[in-house]
Amino acid sequence: MAKLEQVLLLGNPRLYELSRPVTDDEMPDIKPVIKDLQDILIEFRGRYNTGRAIAAPQIGIMKRLIFVQLDEPHVLINPILYDKSDRMVEVWDDCMCFPLLEVKVLRHAECRVRFRDRYWEERVWDLNGDLAELLQHETDHLDGILATQRAIDDRSFRWKKTVPPNQ
Ligand SMILES: [Zn+2]
Repeated sequence: MAKLEQVLLLGNPRLYELSRPVTDDEMPDIKPVIKDLQDILIEFRGRYNTGRAIAAPQIGIMKRLIFVQLDEPHVLINPILYDKSDRMVEVWDDCMCFPLLEVKVLRHAECRVRFRDRYWEERVWDLNGDLAELLQHETDHLDGILATQRAIDDRSFRWKKTVPPNQ
């Protein structure tokens, strides 16, 4: 079974690599990866009481695949962001690759995402608020970009005040 320890941590060079698109014929291999991402996200939430999504490269699988847990689970394959608003918002961002660090970044207030779901159906979501920020963060992972690289300035870092509940 997939384990939280599989998540690559800040400093691991693989996190800066570009991930490759998923092809239709790879879907049988992708199904177990989706299960692993879900298991790991559940374990992360149990330990840190936060975490809404995980991208495949965060566990060293360099494929353009994101698992998102909203009211129900969603799989975003080969997501593309577009129609990004000019209006930007400042947010304190965090990441499963550095669970106790927060980084102040600018994100587009609104955007759209086009992707294939786990049934290879094309989908489009209009995004704003938390979900827009989240998917900008996650698609960055697919391009090998971490929130630390988007820090507004060299003071845009803070340590979380709370310790994880299980430690
Ligand atoms: Zn992240």
